Amino acid sequence: WRQRSELDKLADLPRELDEELTQLDQDFWVSGNKLKEIVSRFREELDEGLSKDGQNIPMNVAWVHNLPTGKEKGTILTLDLGGTNLRVCKVDLHGDEAQGKEKSTLDQEQYTLPEELKTGDAEGLWTFIAEKVETFVEDKGLDKEYSKEQPMPLGFTFSYPATQERIDHAVLQTWTKGFDIKGVEGNDVAQQLRDKLEERGLPIELVCVVNDTVGAMIASAYNDSKTIIGAIFGTGCNAAYMASLSDIRKLDPKDERVTATQTPNQSNSAKDQKMAINCEYGAFDNAHRVLPRTQYDSQIDAESPRPGEQTFEKLSAGLYLGEIFRLILLDLADRNLVFNDDDQDTEKLRTSYAIDTGFLSQIEDDESPSFTSTRTMFRQQLNLNPSDVEIELARRLAEVIAVRGARLCACGVAAICTKEGIKKGHVAADGSVANKHPKFKRRWAKALGRFWGGRRSGGAGGWGGGPIKITSAEDGSGVGCAIIAAMEIGRRGKGGN
Ligand code: BGC
Ligand code: MG
Repeated sequence: WRQRSELDKLADLPRELDEELTQLDQDFWVSGNKLKEIVSRFREELDEGLSKDGQNIPMNVAWVHNLPTGKEKGTILTLDLGGTNLRVCKVDLHGDEAQGKEKSTLDQEQYTLPEELKTGDAEGLWTFIAEKVETFVEDKGLDKEYSKEQPMPLGFTFSYPATQERIDHAVLQTWTKGFDIKGVEGNDVAQQLRDKLEERGLPIELVCVVNDTVGAMIASAYNDSKTIIGAIFGTGCNAAYMASLSDIRKLDPKDERVTATQTPNQSNSAKDQKMAINCEYGAFDNAHRVLPRTQYDSQIDAESPRPGEQTFEKLSAGLYLGEIFRLILLDLADRNLVFNDDDQDTEKLRTSYAIDTGFLSQIEDDESPSFTSTRTMFRQQLNLNPSDVEIELARRLAEVIAVRGARLCACGVAAICTKEGIKKGHVAADGSVANKHPKFKRRWAKALGRFWGGRRSGGAGGWGGGPIKITSAEDGSGVGCAIIAAMEIGRRGKGGN
């Protein structure tokens, strides 16, 4: 009924603990049949999201009308508000002038977002951002190169669900990933940012607001024409793809924002015309119909700033994997099944989000016979001295939680591909889980292979579930965002509105 653990045993677990683990194994295991059931419901929700009064998955229209040609050029300022950092870049796109060299070059600075900002207010957020942009612009001498009359174009990667009436407009639907900043939800983040930049008299014009998934897809398509999806498996999880206009029932095909974007080389049939859709599928199964939720998942949800939201994300994304692990260990400790010697101090283990996904990655990466690095991590980060039994348990837990996450992550992509009839191509993936977890891509591909069967490949060409392969995305929030800004500027130049 389940996949056997891939681990060599370090120690035998005492009977009680072994029974606990067997139960956890069962609760976390997503069988092949369950995968199919999830994907089938996932397809329904993706489709509902494209209808006029869709609920559940938002399926946000991103106003990116084409994949790039690879010829896009220009110098663009970009801003990336991620979960932990703020990144400002000056991106030079060389397009077809690259002549065998890098197609883009980048000058960047990164700033840590102060923790208190994430639960503060809009004023604090935009002031912090505008301040960093000003510093960057001055340090690089851009304030001398650009003027009010000829402002520097800015692209803003904003990795949260937003309703966009136009590409330079984005009303935040809800904060995700633990953010809880007052006064932003229900407001246009483009305007809030613009106001603050204006206050400082910066020679900047905000051209586009872009989701990180759309950025990843576009940046990757700039170099790799096989790109079909941009996906983030990181702090949060989500994907974007190019949908057929005829499928987006919530958009009127006669809407001038749509018709104005037809280019001469596109046929007029709505089937062939495309529009990028940012799925926001972290919100999948908010109605709790199919996902295998455990008591720990319910607890994470209940204690989060937005209970009832992002159900899928809370089971599979990087922000939560370590927290699930912590809650299980803590539960076992409270029942005196682990860390119950007098000299063990569980205080740190009681701190919410004390364990991040990197901790689980390192456990799974640790191949030393006595698991030295795992022991050191427990000591340094949690002030605990695990026994062999506890190490054994931790390894199995890290495996069980990450396997579930990877298998669920495959469902989102499988749903998009089967719904769209996509039979081959590259899923350009970014995010800390995709890039740093040693086994994520292989597990993801294995689960995805369930939907295509047969051939599997891995390594240099990307891990694949048959013909659909996961590749490493190019820099979406820098280069991707800049390409989208360049495409938008080009389109306007041609008289599009
Ligand atoms: C956000 C998405 C984003 C994803 C990955 C989710 O929490 O809602 O907009 O793409 O995280 O960063
Ligand atoms: Mg990011």
